[in-house]
Amino acid sequence: MAAGLPARALADDTSVASSESADGYQVPDRPAPNSRMVPSPQNTGITKPNAEPIPPEPAPAAWDEEYDVVIVGSGWGGLTAANMAAQGGLKTALIEKGDVTGGASRHAAENAVISGGSKAQEEAGYHWPGDKFDPKAATTKYEEYCSWTVDYKLLYDSVIAGAEWIDWMMEQPGIEWVAAGPCMEDIRVNSKEQNTLLGNHWTAEALTDNAIADGVEIKLLTQCKALIQDGDRVVGIKVADTLGNETYLKGAKAVLLTAGGFGMNLDLLEKYTPTAYMYATQGGPMPSHTGECFRMGLGVGADVSGFNSFSMWEGGLDEYWGNGDGNYFHHFWNGAKQVMQNPWLKIDITGRRMEFFAKSTGDGIPQENYPHLENCEIGDLTSANHWSSSIGHRAYNIFDSKFKESLKVFENSAMNPNQDAHRQPVSEDRTVVNTLASSTEWEKEFEEAVARGAISKADTLEELAEMLGLRPERVTAAVDHWNNDICAKGEDTDLPAPYKEDWLIPVDTPPYYGAAMGGQISKTMAGLRVNEKMQVINAEGDPIPGLYAGWYTAGGIGGVNNYGGIFGNPTIHAGVAISGVGGYMAMNAILANE
Ligand SMILES: Cc1cc2nc3c(=O)[nH]c(=O)nc-3n(C[C@H](O)[C@H](O)[C@H](O)COP(=O)(O)OP(=O)(O)OC[C@H]3O[C@@H](n4cnc5c(N)ncnc54)[C@H](O)[C@@H]3O)c2cc1C
Repeated sequence: MAAGLPARALADDTSVASSESADGYQVPDRPAPNSRMVPSPQNTGITKPNAEPIPPEPAPAAWDEEYDVVIVGSGWGGLTAANMAAQGGLKTALIEKGDVTGGASRHAAENAVISGGSKAQEEAGYHWPGDKFDPKAATTKYEEYCSWTVDYKLLYDSVIAGAEWIDWMMEQPGIEWVAAGPCMEDIRVNSKEQNTLLGNHWTAEALTDNAIADGVEIKLLTQCKALIQDGDRVVGIKVADTLGNETYLKGAKAVLLTAGGFGMNLDLLEKYTPTAYMYATQGGPMPSHTGECFRMGLGVGADVSGFNSFSMWEGGLDEYWGNGDGNYFHHFWNGAKQVMQNPWLKIDITGRRMEFFAKSTGDGIPQENYPHLENCEIGDLTSANHWSSSIGHRAYNIFDSKFKESLKVFENSAMNPNQDAHRQPVSEDRTVVNTLASSTEWEKEFEEAVARGAISKADTLEELAEMLGLRPERVTAAVDHWNNDICAKGEDTDLPAPYKEDWLIPVDTPPYYGAAMGGQISKTMAGLRVNEKMQVINAEGDPIPGLYAGWYTAGGIGGVNNYGGIFGNPTIHAGVAISGVGGYMAMNAILANE
């Protein structure tokens, strides 16, 4: 071997013969298939405690409660499945660690089944792609978006199930949805009676009431702690209440995990979605997304699907989880973040301007690839990608003491009305979409963010740069360029997606403000590998008897290494609808006794 060249051999595999290549590297012979390690994202080598599998427990001598089906997590997947189970005559328990049903699904509004096909969408004339419901074409198109890293059978069946799920939802008492393109919206949202951000709470209430009426045992403030296994079959779960009292619940026919993703679990993020771990400013979307049910699935031998697959949304102040406010749940309601989501001077660590994608910038991103976002922004998705992949992985907002006046300018210069709720400061009691930036609450929250250092405030630009961890000469040069070359001339000649003229407001009146911005995790799409019946499977493809998972405890619906804003959320049916579709598919299979 040539001196100085490293030997490269398969570690810990002495049985592998090797030869020396012309350049001196030791080239291992291809090992026999049966001696190869099964390739899996589980083999990343990271062994942080909160990423470790949670081992199952054996069946107790006596069960505390016995059900046909036990469902963990009450988002759209869990609520859909619980209602279907009860309607199908199964004795059902729905376990929820929060104090209310609905999870993140309750906080969403746009239930987007992209490929359409439901009766309501057909009547509304919505189709994608093409001009008729075509599951094969939708599958093919979406495979392309996922760079062909998605399970085509799972995807195809999800397209079919998407249409069926909406039809099923529309038949449930208390559901008042209308089709707005691919999105099913509550009538009150559609008529703008209510802020779009809260639309699903009526549906959550209706599905919960229906489930209770049909005999589902809903246990709130009850956390699933472990799976119970008898031989290789999952036969129930162990739960604990808030006082730590443990009980054993039998799920004779099935245990279904619809417990959300793991966007708040740093160890799991590092291991399974390292890009999110490295670049995201904040976890999310809900504090409850801590991933223990994913770990329980790993504990009974599940494979993992969707490595490094996640999505982000714009708007995170770079606080991460530090102050307890760092998750998407608070995203819309925090005044400091609302102020940040505006077209300020944005730079990367080198001082180069960063883009800010909003429809009203005329950014020209092809909307036809984002049919479910036809009437709103894709900027929430694309800005996060843009900033996170920049040098330094952050965009820095730089503005000055005139910011309250500037907010009114931004509002009045045709920021997309559907997105004003995201971009203009809002307050908890806000009931309409187009409220001006007049709440005192957001000002208080802004000041709180300054006080805790999430937003920096300084009398000089040099001082501000130091506080932000930026080189002072880069910041002063960037502001000088902004003031003199852009604002003074009244034309944004820097960016491919230029700022509107009246957004060109000089930064010249101290005190100065600045904050690092990045992406917030809106969902993790790595999780337990499932087949098209939503049965959790091991690395050999065998179902783990008795165990099912819905998205986003299941992974793989967004393909592998699929992150950021591609195709919106990016799943074939967007974030909240795919949760319902997963629950629908799983319960269909359970009812069919498969
Ligand atoms: C404010 C907001 C707005 C959004 N808007 C949209 C939108 O308009 N359109 C869209 O497509 N998406 C939207 N999303 C994203 C969407 O809501 C989520 O992607 C989707 O609801 C996730 O569904 P899920 O079933 O995976 O998780 P969830 O709906 O969160 O359900 C999981 C449930 O499992 C429970 N759980 C977890 N672990 C355990 C355990 N060990 N024991 C018991 N219970 C457990 C959790 O408490 C939670 O209630 C929004 C999210 C937020 C926060």
